Amino acid sequence: MEILDGRKVSKEILLELAGEVDLLVQNGIEPKLAVILVGNNPASLSYIRQKQKSCNAIGVQWEQFDYGEDVTTEELIKRVEQLNDDDSVHGILVQLPLPAHVYTPDVIRAIDPKKDVDGFTAYNLGKMFLSKDFEDLASCTPLGVIRLLERYNIDVKGKEVVVVGHSNIVGKPLAAMLLNRDATVTVCHVHTKDLASHTKRADILCVAVGKVNLITEDMVKDGVVVVDIGINRLENGNLVGDTDFEGVSKKASYITPVPGGAGPMTVTCLMENTVRAAKRLNNIT
Ligand code: NAP
Repeated sequence: MEILDGRKVSKEILLELAGEVDLLVQNGIEPKLAVILVGNNPASLSYIRQKQKSCNAIGVQWEQFDYGEDVTTEELIKRVEQLNDDDSVHGILVQLPLPAHVYTPDVIRAIDPKKDVDGFTAYNLGKMFLSKDFEDLASCTPLGVIRLLERYNIDVKGKEVVVVGHSNIVGKPLAAMLLNRDATVTVCHVHTKDLASHTKRADILCVAVGKVNLITEDMVKDGVVVVDIGINRLENGNLVGDTDFEGVSKKASYITPVPGGAGPMTVTCLMENTVRAAKRLNNIT
C-alpha cells in the first residue's frame, strides 16, 4: 500500500507555480487573489490561513475584504463587481459558507468567470462538461484529485471509478472531469440503494460526503485506489476522512491520508487557477 501524499505533491506543484509567478512578475504582471471573508467561522478562518500561506509561498498577492455576519447579499455583490473591474485583481474567492440570510448563488453568479478561481460559477462548471480542453478554471477540489492521481501515474482511462457524494463543488465536477478522461464513472449519494455494491466494484474510489467511517474494509476490493476527500472533526479535535483508514488501507494499493491528502491539493489547485487566470487575463497561454 502506498500513501497518496498530498503534502509532498503540493510542495512540488507550488515550486513549479512559484517559477511561473516569477516569470509573470518579470513581465510586469503581479498575480493577485482577492478574498472575501464574512464572519469568523473557525473552519473558514483556518482555510483562509492555509490559502494565504500558499499565496505567500509562491509570490501571489493577497488582498482580503472582511465583513461582519450582518452583511447583505447586495453589499457582497457590489464588492465582487468592484473586484471584477479592478485590473490588478486576477482571482476572486468568496469564502463559503456565507450566513444563511445571504443568497450565495447570487454572490457567486456575480463573479467574472475569468476571475472565478474556485470554479464555482455556472459558466465554468458548464464548460467542464464539454471536454477536458474546456476545463479552464476547474473546481479546486476535483482538480486536486485529478492532479494527485496524475502525479502518481494512476491512469483513470477505462477504470471503474466510483464517486460517493454529488455536491456541486466536489462530486459532480469530479465526475465530469473523470468522464473527460474516459473513466467509467458511477456517482453515489444519500439515496443510493446498497452503496457497498457500487464501492466494491471500484478500481478507484473517491469519497466526498462528510461522514466518519462511511467506507469500511468490507466495502472495497483488493487493490483499490482510495481518494478520501471528506473532512470530519472528531470530539478529541482530530481530523479524519470518510473512510476507515486502518481497515481500508489493508486492501488498498494507494490511499490518501486525512489530513494530508486531498486537502492540501485543493489549496494548491486554487494557486494553479490563480496563476492560470493571471495569464489568461493578460493573454498569455
Ligand atoms: P455536501 O454538499 O454536504 O455533499 C455531501 C454529499 O454526500 C451529498 O451529495 C450527499 O447526498 C452525500 N451523502 C450524504 N450522506 C450520504 C451517505 N450516507 N451515503 C452516500 N452519500 C451521502 O458536502 P461537500 O461540500 O461536497 O463536502 C463533502 C466532504 O468533503 C465534507 O466532509 C467536506 O468537509 C469535504 N471537503 C473537503 C475538501 C478538501 O479540500 N479536502 C473540499 C471540499 C469539501 P445528498 O445531497 O443527496 O444528501
